[in-house]
Amino acid sequence: MKILLQLYVVLLLLAGAPLDTLVDSEYGLPAWYDPGMQETTLTAWDALQTEASKDGIKMTIFSGYRSYEYQAQVYAREIAERRGQAPLYSTRPGHSEHQLGTTIDVAWPGLPLGFNDARNDRLYTWLRDNAHLFGFVISYPYKTSDTWPYHNRWLPVVTEFIYEPWHIRYIGITLAQAIYNAGYLDPGSDITPQDFYRAWP
Ligand SMILES: [Zn+2]
Repeated sequence: MKILLQLYVVLLLLAGAPLDTLVDSEYGLPAWYDPGMQETTLTAWDALQTEASKDGIKMTIFSGYRSYEYQAQVYAREIAERRGQAPLYSTRPGHSEHQLGTTIDVAWPGLPLGFNDARNDRLYTWLRDNAHLFGFVISYPYKTSDTWPYHNRWLPVVTEFIYEPWHIRYIGITLAQAIYNAGYLDPGSDITPQDFYRAWP
């Protein structure tokens, strides 16, 4: 029985993390998990980009797959720059959705990630309306929650990070539609994509 269980775990590991794997401050990925950027995600990204271009929206991948080691460097830099605020913007290694190989940060070509350009605003509005049709969700949608100043442009309460309209994760069309239909983009609701995920392995 024990051997069967171990075999089951090994098979799970070989198959890689399922699309609905929960990655947050509590549940992480092992340091050795190094899947690279996933083909299915890139295929969905191509379809998303093609549809967007029909509406005059351009986008490029600003940041894609990040290994455990790379995330460690990113986080060290954030800590150096932001100190106590760093956990609102970045996460310690093993706890970034970017390590799944299914998550990308997108921006208008030539622009950095951010709120201060009308082209990015157009792009992020388009993603809110259309990303789920291609199997993507916005991992940290805008939430007003509670009372001022506890909304996630400044002090996230409902989501673990500040509002990140650029950070999209591929989870497949069925689940993305379900999360969209549940109203996760409603700023007044506490629903987040993470409510629909499961820890792995
Ligand atoms: Zn991101």
